[in-house]
Amino acid sequence: MKNVRKTESKFLKVVCSKCNNEQIIFNKPSKNVNCLVCGVELAESTGGKGKIKSKVLQVL
Ligand SMILES: [Zn+2]
Repeated sequence: MKNVRKTESKFLKVVCSKCNNEQIIFNKPSKNVNCLVCGVELAESTGGKGKIKSKVLQVL
C-alpha cells in the first residue's frame, strides 16, 4: 500500500500582473511574496499551500 502525501513542494514561474516581471516563487511560501520590481503581492502565505495571486506561466 502506498502512502504518498500530495504535499509536493514546487517552484512556479509567475508573471506579475502589473509590470509583467517574471519571477520564480515557491508554491508554499512561509511569508508573502512580492514582486521584486513593483512590489505587488504575488503569493500569500497561508501556513500551508500558498495562495498564488499572479499568473503561473510554468511549474518547474
Ligand atoms: Zn511587478
